[in-house]
Amino acid sequence: MSRFAPHRPSSSNPRPSADTVCQKCLQRGHYTFNCKTTARPYATRPSRTQMLENPDKFAKIARPAVNEDLPDEFLSKKGLADKILKENALKREAEEQAAKRKLALKGAESRRVFKG
Ligand SMILES: [Zn+2]
Repeated sequence: MSRFAPHRPSSSNPRPSADTVCQKCLQRGHYTFNCKTTARPYATRPSRTQMLENPDKFAKIARPAVNEDLPDEFLSKKGLADKILKENALKREAEEQAAKRKLALKGAESRRVFKG
């Protein structure tokens, strides 16, 4: 046995919980590699055409629930672009004013130099 390998028996022999779903027979309580079923059950699901023809009937499948972690400002997309543009305009204005102040300072310095 390696000195550096983890000595946890549970990691090499995991136990399935009651919620564990077998992907082969779709039953709970065992892993797929422990499945003893030979015949796979047929799980029906709507085709894409059926979903497109009856969007209300398959609304749950087609559209998953909205992520609740999303901030409020992204939930309603109305006015988001205007908000971003306004912020950028304010930033640009502040930069322009800073540049103007710098130019004014330089002008004052050059005038002082010209006088002296
Ligand atoms: Zn199974």
